[in-house]
Amino acid sequence: MTAPRTEGSVTVTATRVLVLNSGSSSVKYQLLDMHDGSRLAAGLVERIGEETSRLVHTPLIGGEKRERSGPIADHGAALKAVADELASDGLGLDSPELAAIGHRVVHGGLRFTEPTVIDDDVLAEVERLVPVAPLHNPANIIGIRTAQALRPDLPQVAVFDTAFHTTMPEAAARYAIDVETADAHRIRRYGFHGTSHAYVSRRTAELLGKEPSEVNVIVLHLGNGASASAVAGGRCVDTSMGLTPLEGLVMGTRSGDIDPAVTFHLMRVAEMSADEIDALLNKKSGLVGLCGDNDMREIRRRIDEGDERAQLAFDIYIHRLRKYIGAYFAVLGRVDAIAFTAGVGENAAPVREAAMADMEGFGLTLDRERNAARSDEARIISASEGRVAVAVVPTDEELEIAQQTFALVTSGSRTGNP
Ligand code: ADP
Repeated sequence: MTAPRTEGSVTVTATRVLVLNSGSSSVKYQLLDMHDGSRLAAGLVERIGEETSRLVHTPLIGGEKRERSGPIADHGAALKAVADELASDGLGLDSPELAAIGHRVVHGGLRFTEPTVIDDDVLAEVERLVPVAPLHNPANIIGIRTAQALRPDLPQVAVFDTAFHTTMPEAAARYAIDVETADAHRIRRYGFHGTSHAYVSRRTAELLGKEPSEVNVIVLHLGNGASASAVAGGRCVDTSMGLTPLEGLVMGTRSGDIDPAVTFHLMRVAEMSADEIDALLNKKSGLVGLCGDNDMREIRRRIDEGDERAQLAFDIYIHRLRKYIGAYFAVLGRVDAIAFTAGVGENAAPVREAAMADMEGFGLTLDRERNAARSDEARIISASEGRVAVAVVPTDEELEIAQQTFALVTSGSRTGNP
């Protein structure tokens, strides 16, 4: 599919991949060259459909970051604007060097266990999954259709957030509810952030000088959304998010685990609708619901000033995180490493310190200096006497999507299944 093409007398090998992450009102993008994994450009279009849309484009091959404000009506116009910016850096999407477009697709259900070349049948299945991912899959579909219209000749690949978790055993993936009801409505635990958990668990093995198949890792992806996963020998065996990204850890604006009876209680005593409760648990809970802020930097600043609500929010966040760490020790039996990643995991030393405190019984001992040192590199922060390595591993979902996309289109097959 990406065999060298001849342009006049010059042979061009297509090694570039455009990665698109389409949200309901935004598109994030990166252009990578898979020849060496280097980044050529990156950017973001936000507030699509509003008067105040904004495009921020950063050429990474030299040149200044550029910003454009003003209405961008829809995803089609957004992608056209991105294509124009790339073209003015000499990186146009019509280039024969572009091998494929890789799309982040949030929900792949049970069918998509690997990256997949998108055709009408694949798109129809992503569409069928909209009821279980109403906030995400519709935006992903719009992004795919828009990109197809722009380059109909180019392979477009879907890389699913759920794919890495499809190896979870039934014991971890099923809820203990009536099986017929669950199956009729596809209710089960799918998990999300899979691209990040896959990348970080592999990088952690690399950091330990081992093959992924040789190590058991607990990955803590702590961003605004947050999830934990238990990865045994490179395969996910449990993860904290479920049917939707609401389950599990305390997040920036989501409650994470909660007694489901809270929802009926709110319906009955507060006369709240399903949509209102959905908004409460997804947007007005978690750290923001507990203390009014969801940015860990701000919460730490308030704690330093003696703010009790911020302290309580932090304590609840850490308590839940430690419960999952303990649970995944039991799920895995043997743990070789714990990896912290994403905005909070990579940057918030106090979160890592509190999560790992008094865990010597589990073989976990943090080196305080290593933990406090700032770095963008993957690194070990445990003390040498600790049996279990503790690592900070910056996630790179775009690189993972580009690698999976490129591997698939150069293999010439339709899915990543061997
Ligand atoms: P997402 O991709 O889920 O939006 P990120 O992984 O980018 O989120 O994480 C964003 C969060 O990371 C912010 O809300 C903030 O809480 C946290 N964060 C970012 N930088 C720092 C920092 N230097 N110290 C503490 N927390 C940070």
